[in-house]
Amino acid sequence: MTSFDIAVAVEKVIKRYGSVTALHGVSLDIRENEFFTLLGPSGCGKTTLLRAIAGFEDVSEGRILLKGQDLTGLPPHKRPVNTVFQQYALFPHMTVTENVLFGLLRKGWSRQDAVRRAQDVLALVQLSDFANRKPTQMSGGQQQRVALARALAPRPEVLLLDEPLSALDLKLRQAVRLELKALQRETGIAFIFVTHDQEEALTMSDRIAVMSNGHVQQVGSPKEIYEAPTNRFVADFIGETNLLDVTVQSISDGVATVLLPGDKPFTCPAAAVLDAGSGHLSVRPERISLCAEPLAHLSATVTGHTYLGTDIQLHVRLVDGEAMTVRLQNAESTVVPATGAHIGLNLEAGAARLLAD
Ligand code: ATP
Repeated sequence: MTSFDIAVAVEKVIKRYGSVTALHGVSLDIRENEFFTLLGPSGCGKTTLLRAIAGFEDVSEGRILLKGQDLTGLPPHKRPVNTVFQQYALFPHMTVTENVLFGLLRKGWSRQDAVRRAQDVLALVQLSDFANRKPTQMSGGQQQRVALARALAPRPEVLLLDEPLSALDLKLRQAVRLELKALQRETGIAFIFVTHDQEEALTMSDRIAVMSNGHVQQVGSPKEIYEAPTNRFVADFIGETNLLDVTVQSISDGVATVLLPGDKPFTCPAAAVLDAGSGHLSVRPERISLCAEPLAHLSATVTGHTYLGTDIQLHVRLVDGEAMTVRLQNAESTVVPATGAHIGLNLEAGAARLLAD
């Protein structure tokens, strides 16, 4: 087994705000030199957790360790972490260099060392030519890089990023994602990134913690989270999926036999230990193919289709009335069945999973 050095250990952290519990005993290990993302819908507790690591919030119970050192009670400026916020909060009347120098001088760096370090971090974010500009004379993407340079300047051991891309337009956001990932690699420190955007999380992260209602639902690589979700929440939140009601006949060693709608038996991996009875099968739309009806796992009627450029989304209804979507590759040879047509659907072996609620 590979062992990893842990940058940040979150141990059974509970955070209450009066009667609201924002974090219900969260435990996580964030490894050194990894791009780790806290992903979840609004209100799931991801910002609260990031702020607790930064020291802006005290935890009600549990503790947070940085490279083995308990951070409890340490104020934010004494923690070897730094945060980039959604609003960059740059000083508009100062130049880019002065913005970067400000924090270093306040931390007691000598002016000579601070100036050298500011030059280095501005080179790292490719802003050396902008050193004497004011933030107001720069684009949103450039301002974002100034905020990154400023946060990296004091050599934090971990960089925390609170939805730092949400102020950028879509095209810029996509470009900055790549830059941010490259920057994490170059600095060699752990980045803990908060977002509600699953595409952002999947494209940048080494590992993702999916959160809902103050709980961590699953931790894994983007591929694990997408291809092997452990529960309905994760399957539904990450990408698109079909969740079919099935009857579970048996489960043994992580393999389940279920009855699909229409009563055909089907064998699939089971994400959890479930009792026989009813369950939910998660099937990604791109893991379903059309086939001759007598041999098919499922029989369906086409209710329409949507043209998506590279793909075609086929909308169907099963015999028991459940709606599903199927993604067909938009190749020249693809014949899209007409609305009202009866078709057979095959589920790719191993790609459908029986999930816990
Ligand atoms: P968003 O994406 O909207 O920022 P989030 O996942 O970051 O959401 P948090 O901001 O961590 O969620 O909030 C988690 C829960 O704690 C929410 O129910 C929120 O209303 C509550 N909460 C957060 N801060 C406070 C506070 N200062 N006082 C009371 N409740 C709070």
